[in-house]
Amino acid sequence: MADPSAMDQARPSVPRASDPARATALLEALPSAAAFFLRSGALYAVNTLGREWFVVDARAPLPSQSWSVVLLPLGAAAAALLAGVAAGDAPTTQTLPLNRERRAAGVRVVDVRAVAFDEELLLLTATDATARDDQQTAAARVDRELSALLTLTPATVRITDVTGRIVQSNAHADLEHPTHPPATVRALWELEAPHDIANNRPLSFLDAPAMRALAGHVVRQQRLEVRRLGAQRVIESFAAPFRNERQEVVGAVLLDLDVTDRQRLERQVQERAGREAALLEQVSHERAQLEHLVEERSRALAAVQEDNLRERRLAAVGQLAAGVMHDVNNALNPIMAAAYLLRHHAESPDAVRDYADRIQKAAEIGAATASRVGRFIRQQPVHAGGDEALDLSALADDVLDLTEPMRLRRSSESGEIHIVRQFEPTVSTRGLPGEIREALLNLVQNAVDAMPEGGTLTARTFTEGSDACVSIRDTGVGMSAEVRERAFEPFFTTKGSKGSGLGLAEVYGIARRHRGTATMSSVPGRGTEVTLRLPRAVSEEPVDTTAHVAPPVVASQRILVVEDHDDGREFLRRILQADGHRVDAVGTCADAREKLACSEGTPYDLMLTDVGLPDGSGWDLVQHVRRTVPAVRVGVLTGWEPLADTGESHGAEFVLRKPLRAAELQAHIAGRAVPASTTE
Ligand code: ADP
Ligand code: MG
Repeated sequence: MADPSAMDQARPSVPRASDPARATALLEALPSAAAFFLRSGALYAVNTLGREWFVVDARAPLPSQSWSVVLLPLGAAAAALLAGVAAGDAPTTQTLPLNRERRAAGVRVVDVRAVAFDEELLLLTATDATARDDQQTAAARVDRELSALLTLTPATVRITDVTGRIVQSNAHADLEHPTHPPATVRALWELEAPHDIANNRPLSFLDAPAMRALAGHVVRQQRLEVRRLGAQRVIESFAAPFRNERQEVVGAVLLDLDVTDRQRLERQVQERAGREAALLEQVSHERAQLEHLVEERSRALAAVQEDNLRERRLAAVGQLAAGVMHDVNNALNPIMAAAYLLRHHAESPDAVRDYADRIQKAAEIGAATASRVGRFIRQQPVHAGGDEALDLSALADDVLDLTEPMRLRRSSESGEIHIVRQFEPTVSTRGLPGEIREALLNLVQNAVDAMPEGGTLTARTFTEGSDACVSIRDTGVGMSAEVRERAFEPFFTTKGSKGSGLGLAEVYGIARRHRGTATMSSVPGRGTEVTLRLPRAVSEEPVDTTAHVAPPVVASQRILVVEDHDDGREFLRRILQADGHRVDAVGTCADAREKLACSEGTPYDLMLTDVGLPDGSGWDLVQHVRRTVPAVRVGVLTGWEPLADTGESHGAEFVLRKPLRAAELQAHIAGRAVPASTTE
């Protein structure tokens, strides 16, 4: 080992390292753990940090300690470094762990540098490099994490520098363009030829997400169509700049997701929605068509029903006409025969009277038919004032009495018919007693006809709400559905020549005329019940409906007859003259006015006028008389016409329906007749 003082003398220009104290002071100036060793390996000087880090025995003299021990904490490498420079190697640095102490964060790392200081001394410094090493480790970790992230992400990721050079990309990106990986964003743009889907046009280079990011913008979810691996793909592109501490853009991150499949799905969903909408529209269209069809069918059906109705109405009218014709012919036959025979036996007064009787009888049968048909036809309500208060119980009782002989006769001929009366004390209504009686007669007649083997006829009267009701029930044969359907039609009968078919038609017409209804329930083999419902009236003095016409006392009167029908006019004149009246007869309104005008001296007592006249209506004449000679009484003769059926006499004293019955006419002339509307 060299003598330090000799060394100091030999190299006065170098630091006096040979002086251990000075050498130590020099070492203390270094920011590292540092030590001088003699080339022989003995420790020459060491600074404070060196004593701390290296293995230095403070109690032993320094030269007795060799570097192989002193540098143990740095491992064999440090001693090898010193040996190297001692042998003439260039000074080198090595980063080595310092095992001397353990730190919480890990092993301390030092940069170990060995240099040959002079011929005798070698210098070793160990500078703490832990901080720098930590930084490097952290950066490496970030790198590792980032690349793991880039590998794992389903997206394509590229990182560019500020010039647009692609400095990093992940596996996805590399797979997309395996043969010519783009080196720049420009190359990428040329390869992929992006198409802007939202605006449906090619995307310019400056608008490419990478360029926008490098210009400082953030791009989110821009949909583009790009060419990759020879196919068109749809991507959603994201891009963002990244900046240094001074906020300058130094690069960009580009990321995109392949959404081709998603877009296809979306499109399928849209298409399906579209198809469903179309389907819905079609369904609603078809529904509309169906509704239209239903409407059309209903219209057609309604038309058919109307046709049916019309047909049935026409059939009923035809039946009515045929019935009337039949009955009129039946009435006319004997009249014509009698008239013919009259001529041949005109010289025999007995024969004349006999034929006259036959003629009258036949005419009366015809008139009866006409009036029964009339009761069906005339459904206009009875005029208030033309009616009277009635008790249905009393009327029904009357009718049962009236039909007693018929019932007895039937009972003796075939089976016994029992009568049951179920009457409430007073069942009040208003109406024409003659008509109601007629209706009930028809019902009793039908009930008796329906029970050829006998049975029970029950007559009931009762009130129900605002109705006054009377019903006739039998335990007879009942009606089939077809008969029930047609029973009310005039001339419909199942009784052949014994039936007229007018009974129920009359009942129907009478019910209507009294603002009521006639309803029927019938079960074949069990019986039938027909019910008349009329408006109930507050009970009044029961009317004596059996009162009637006293024989007329006829005083001679002066009468003006207005009738255009020659025969009718002549008959009327003769009848009146036969009764002792003085008669003028004319055929027109004009003639009548003339007669009335020049009769101031001896005015007529009465004018009898027809309604249908060649130059006007009889009703006008009535008005004329009322205005000019009010003292003259007026009687109107009519076939049948609506006005006459309302029960109003329109200023006339009485209204008579043709064919005229002489007795009725006489009663009216005598001023004792029943009210105009009830005359039948
Ligand atoms: P007619 O008695 O002259 O036949 P209607 O008009 O009184 O005429 O009756 C018409 C038809 O109704 C009868 O022919 C009969 O078939 C049926 N009819 C009416 N009343 C009854 C009843 N009480 N029981 C069974 N059938 C009846
Ligand atoms: Mg009958």
